[in-house]
Amino acid sequence: MKQFNVPNIYRSSLISAVKNKRKQNDKLKKDFTPTLLNFGPVHIYLARHFGFCYGVENAIEIAFTTIDENPGKRIFLLSEMIHNPQVNADLQERGVQFLQDTYGKQLIPFDELNENDVVLIPAFGTTLQVEALLKAKGIQTEKYNTTCPFVEKVWNRSEQIATKGYSIVIHGKPKHEETRATFSHASSNTPAVIVNDMKDTIELAKFITGEKKPEDFYTAFQGRYSDGFDVTKDLRKIGVVNQTTQLATDTQAIAEYLKQAMKDRYMLNDSNISERFADTRDTLCYATNDNQSAVTGMLQTDADLAIVVGGYNSSNTSHLVELCEEKLKTYFINSADKLLSKNEIHHCNWVTKEEKVTLDFLPGKDPVKILITSGASCPDAIVEEVIAKLLTFYPESISIDDMAERLDSN
Ligand code: SF4
Repeated sequence: MKQFNVPNIYRSSLISAVKNKRKQNDKLKKDFTPTLLNFGPVHIYLARHFGFCYGVENAIEIAFTTIDENPGKRIFLLSEMIHNPQVNADLQERGVQFLQDTYGKQLIPFDELNENDVVLIPAFGTTLQVEALLKAKGIQTEKYNTTCPFVEKVWNRSEQIATKGYSIVIHGKPKHEETRATFSHASSNTPAVIVNDMKDTIELAKFITGEKKPEDFYTAFQGRYSDGFDVTKDLRKIGVVNQTTQLATDTQAIAEYLKQAMKDRYMLNDSNISERFADTRDTLCYATNDNQSAVTGMLQTDADLAIVVGGYNSSNTSHLVELCEEKLKTYFINSADKLLSKNEIHHCNWVTKEEKVTLDFLPGKDPVKILITSGASCPDAIVEEVIAKLLTFYPESISIDDMAERLDSN
């Protein structure tokens, strides 16, 4: 895979050593067991895959190069480039301004832009409307477009399905930048509707089977269907695509549910269901799949707790938390500062996004076994800081440098 020029502030020599070793020993990425780092009184189990993905490294490289190559110019980002507070803060410190917040709320009016400005499109992509608006202002976005190729792949897949007459059901968070962008691209080719979860899916299926009156659709899915959507016609042939960072099992269940609704409604079976239901499998990206599989592998370890590191508004990170919580006590933090002491941690509830305090989160055991992973937008440097902070609570631990040396010499 392509190597990107990512600032060293985001790298960690310890974690690079771990990842390189795992890569060498498992080139085909078949082994999802975690890596044990035995620090003595603390055993850290690092997930097989975590941290910056292709799309995030690509976006960071483009953003930092753009800053270097455009001294004196105003540089804007449409919204957060990725869902990581440190990376976004670093860009703002270097003078980059955000035009919208992560939910599309305007922070700086588009009217203030002119053709001399540089506008970066984030890794999630953007809507056709915003693209057209920037173009109309004479702003060239091609060079500064950090849209991840795996997001574009979903748009291309939607287009392919659309040409065969299928409407698109998008499984994603309706307000997420990527889902809004995918909805915009998909609905330029065919009718489209967004489902957030299984509850929405069950509702949508009732309009397919006729259990619900068509006129109720427009209230039930307000703000989530394309212009001119005709529920009496546009759910006769469908395909499902998803936000690239959804939970794989959720998308699979949603697609299966809708497929069954189509079978019931049109009396189809496995041999002819493709007439009305496009087989898209799922459109999760490789990083989402690898990171979720690595968490499943990591959870086979008998451990005391899990720590998941990443931005609180990061969808892919929240899903890793969701998976871990099913198995053991899990703490979702966005920096090492959240580990206040051996007795106190501040962590996020992935559903409500509220931070709460937990006392005595580390058991009085020797060794304490901790599972650690991070989201696709989290720098490895932050994961190393988290490990370093944990080690300060156990003065007899070996140091990070000694551990990195051991890994190098093995
Ligand atoms: S999580 Fe996947 S789709 Fe999103 S930026 Fe990373 S590689 Fe691209």
